[in-house]
Amino acid sequence: MGEKAIVIRGARVHNLKSIDVEIPLHRLTVITGVSGSGKSSLAFDTIYAEGQRQYVESLSAYARQFLERMNKPDVDEIQGICPAIAIQQKSPARNPRSTVATQTELYDFLRLLFARVGTTFCRQCGQEVTRDTPESIADRVLTLPEGTRFYVLFPATAGLPSPSERSSSRWNRRTKPSNEERTRVRAHLMSLMQRGFTRFYRQGQVVELDSIDANPFEKLDDVYVVVDRLVARADVRSRLVDSLELSYREGYGTVEIHTVGNGQQRWRFSEGFECKPCGLTYPKPEPRLFSFNSAYGACPTCQGFGNIIAVDLDLVIPNKALSLEEGAIEPWTKPQFDWIQEELLEFCQHAGIPTDVPFAELTGEQQRLIINGSEDFPGVRGFFDWLETKKYKVHVRVFLSKYRGYSTCPTCHGTRLRSEALNVRVGGKTLPEICAMSIGQCAQFFRQLTLSAEQRAIAERLLGEIQHRLDVLVDVGLDYLTLDRLASTLSGGEAQRIQLATNLGASLVGTLYVLDEPSIGLHPRDNHRLIHILKQLRDIGNTVVVVEHDADMIRAADRIIDLGPGAGEAGGQVVFQGSVDELERDPQSLTGKYLRGELRIPLPRERRRPRRGLALKIKGARAHNLKNIDVNIPLRCFVCITGVSGSG
Ligand SMILES: [Zn+2]
Ligand SMILES: [Zn+2]
Repeated sequence: MGEKAIVIRGARVHNLKSIDVEIPLHRLTVITGVSGSGKSSLAFDTIYAEGQRQYVESLSAYARQFLERMNKPDVDEIQGICPAIAIQQKSPARNPRSTVATQTELYDFLRLLFARVGTTFCRQCGQEVTRDTPESIADRVLTLPEGTRFYVLFPATAGLPSPSERSSSRWNRRTKPSNEERTRVRAHLMSLMQRGFTRFYRQGQVVELDSIDANPFEKLDDVYVVVDRLVARADVRSRLVDSLELSYREGYGTVEIHTVGNGQQRWRFSEGFECKPCGLTYPKPEPRLFSFNSAYGACPTCQGFGNIIAVDLDLVIPNKALSLEEGAIEPWTKPQFDWIQEELLEFCQHAGIPTDVPFAELTGEQQRLIINGSEDFPGVRGFFDWLETKKYKVHVRVFLSKYRGYSTCPTCHGTRLRSEALNVRVGGKTLPEICAMSIGQCAQFFRQLTLSAEQRAIAERLLGEIQHRLDVLVDVGLDYLTLDRLASTLSGGEAQRIQLATNLGASLVGTLYVLDEPSIGLHPRDNHRLIHILKQLRDIGNTVVVVEHDADMIRAADRIIDLGPGAGEAGGQVVFQGSVDELERDPQSLTGKYLRGELRIPLPRERRRPRRGLALKIKGARAHNLKNIDVNIPLRCFVCITGVSGSG
């Protein structure tokens, strides 16, 4: 063929009849043929298996011992194989916490983004939490009216050793309290003086200390060390910054600015990451704070699962169309609990809650009263709390287990992260809020995200990676999935396209990709996108082999290998290999005949008429994304439900 190719000679895996094929490198090859003709035996059990085996062989003996030993496939010779990745329909074994975001590695990039440019907001007052740098403090101080005199101070107690255990014991306090304290203060002042601080400040007065014997301070609670005295003017900036740095160093990360004169102002700054008005300290955002897979970042209540096993109200009130009288609260319909049902009806009478309308029609407040209870009535929760105390009885445990289920974690509300992570925002949104968006919305969000010039410089590359991966996910037709969707709930086709997008997003080159019927479950619109993605994967320098029946995919291929002619023992032979044009002209290939339109699946000449009234009627379907739709499915008919992927 002239081109570089993977050359396979004498392949005999399963039903393959010692066949020779060539897979051109950096091309899209489709292996097709009737079901059972040996397509997977060639693609996965021969080509992919050998790619894997040679890769493992190339590793050191040490690394090899951790990998499964692979047998050489039954083939005479394979030349030119490269490292191979199989993208199959079945989803790989995974962590139960795994989501679309973690599978696509997007979560790792988002964590980095939040750690680098996330802004923390105080949970109490909602103000931005900042760390004061000498530069930022200087900016703030120099907003004072020009000519304002001020002191740069730090608390004299900074670094003062706390009273020792012995001196704080009751016995000591009674006998010689002040001596002990005086010695401690004196030693601390001496150490300050040795470091060159002889000027102190208390209640607006400066006190010069020439000798420690002249110490006027019994306690240091309202005493400050004077670092500098300045007048607000633009040209003092560099001296001010130096003084602030000195204060941070000597004052254990705190500094105060007190102005002199009328309307004295006091500002406190700290090196710590805290809300100054509220005095609340926050953890510095770092990647592990945003990881629900790490003990540091995971919500402590649910360990990062987002839900806990608790009383499930949907099991307690399974039918909200029932009224309270009719037994809406299911556990209270049991004879042994009819006393609480009576209490409920009595309580409702006093509280003015109607007992003869469906539970669903009660107001939110009325429902909450019944569930959470009040002073006079334990409510559903009080009832179950009481039962918890009786758990030593086997029948109570059995009874409780019927009403237990997974419910959203009350601490993190299903966001899986510890609360501090939720105080950090990028573009006004928390990380869980971003993950709750669909991939399409998320791509839009990042396109419109505005950052400061400084943030942009830090996050430029990260944002590029995030945007690129989101775009690829949109391209493979997964724009409707949310990033926090659990990987275990994805369909085989969705899981496969996620793997595809992840590989494409990582821009790996020189790799052999082997795919198993990727068009399955795809609407024609999405199929065209998929073909586009496979071509992109090829164009960045990879070799793509696809096992496929789809006519569009076959037409898009650079090379086609048609296996057959039949299934099982009647198959395993190469019926055709070459380009699409050659296939269409080939008289032998069954696939060619279909492509030419000589053979096709005949349309029924007559269609079965649905019989009036004989139908499965569905009213108000709202599962997942269904918008309260009504559908009739005629019985005794062959019915097709179609629509773009993810349409429901
Ligand atoms: Zn605050
Ligand atoms: Zn939680």
